[in-house]
Amino acid sequence: MSQIYNFSAGPAALPVEVMQQAQAEFLNWQGKGLSAMEISHRHSWFMSMVEQTEQDLRELLAIPKQYKVLFLAGGASFQFAMIPMNLLRGKNSADYINTGIWSQKAITEAKRYCQVNIAASGESSQFNSIPDFNQWQLNPHAAYVHYAANETISGLEFPYIPETGDIPLVTDMSSNILSAPLDVSRFGLIYAGAQKNIGPSGLSVVIVREDLLGDVLPFTPTLYNYQIQAENNSMYNTPPTYAWYIAGLVFAWLKKQGGLAIIAERNRHKAEKLYTYIDQSEFYFNTIDVRYRSKMNVTFRLKQSELEPLFIKQAEQAGLFALNGHKSAGGGMRASIYNAMPEAGIDRLIEFMHAFKSK
Ligand SMILES: *Cc1c(COP(=O)(O)O)cnc(C)c1O
Repeated sequence: MSQIYNFSAGPAALPVEVMQQAQAEFLNWQGKGLSAMEISHRHSWFMSMVEQTEQDLRELLAIPKQYKVLFLAGGASFQFAMIPMNLLRGKNSADYINTGIWSQKAITEAKRYCQVNIAASGESSQFNSIPDFNQWQLNPHAAYVHYAANETISGLEFPYIPETGDIPLVTDMSSNILSAPLDVSRFGLIYAGAQKNIGPSGLSVVIVREDLLGDVLPFTPTLYNYQIQAENNSMYNTPPTYAWYIAGLVFAWLKKQGGLAIIAERNRHKAEKLYTYIDQSEFYFNTIDVRYRSKMNVTFRLKQSELEPLFIKQAEQAGLFALNGHKSAGGGMRASIYNAMPEAGIDRLIEFMHAFKSK
């Protein structure tokens, strides 16, 4: 079988080494004669595995002690509701930055629980840009400020962390967590669904400052309460154990690569290569403000848009999988190039783009 490169936005490609390890020890995990999939989450073997997993994540992101790390069942979309339920803490309004579809989904959900102040919106640029920070209309009484650090669908990424003073900053990093070093101390809460840069779907990671916990809306379901999850080490009920195990393998893989500074440099290089090719071509184009182009999701279109379906089909035949853009972005193409995408995949894509253009 010739090499296939998987550009899927999520569930996304995992590092090949991680899948090989999972395969090799599928029936005999750590010489125990059992699969990691069939061990109780209460068993000491599983407990020590998750302890190591948390330690590795803390090391990778240099997470300060006063932050809890939660591994919760369900995708990032659950957090759209959990955040207001847990972080309003007696206040009745929160600030949201609207930079695209994922911000909008978070906003829609938050409106069920509080007043939402849209402190800034990229609407006037059709979400191709981010309003300058000095234009944001932040409410000094907001319970928190929420933004999506990387809009996966359009390929729009914040190159900076907004400064919100004493107001807790909350961010959806589903598609760019672990893509570069991060100053966790700037945030009240960071969340990410696993299926882009962490592991398989069904799991989310939440990193939350301890002092924000404990004052939830009265009707908050037990499992939606961060404090209860934290007190129970994310094991109030049965967690998605196999996804958690794979996340652990991914964290170990990232450490083996040399950590996030090295990963960030690779990601910068990969994205730059692809954008450079798109920009110099007369045939392809990208609509995102160059200051805010995503290093994880590179969107592009054909000037002859009627050829886009053919491009996607022939790319797939050439072993370049899932390059189709999201419906709500009006189609086009999107190459998701998370940590697991090797530079060779970018090279193959550029070669294909070049050959398609020539034809
Ligand atoms: C994928 C994604 C989500 C949603 O994740 P689910 O696991 O499907 O709930 C939310 N936010 C961003 C930025 C994403 O990329």
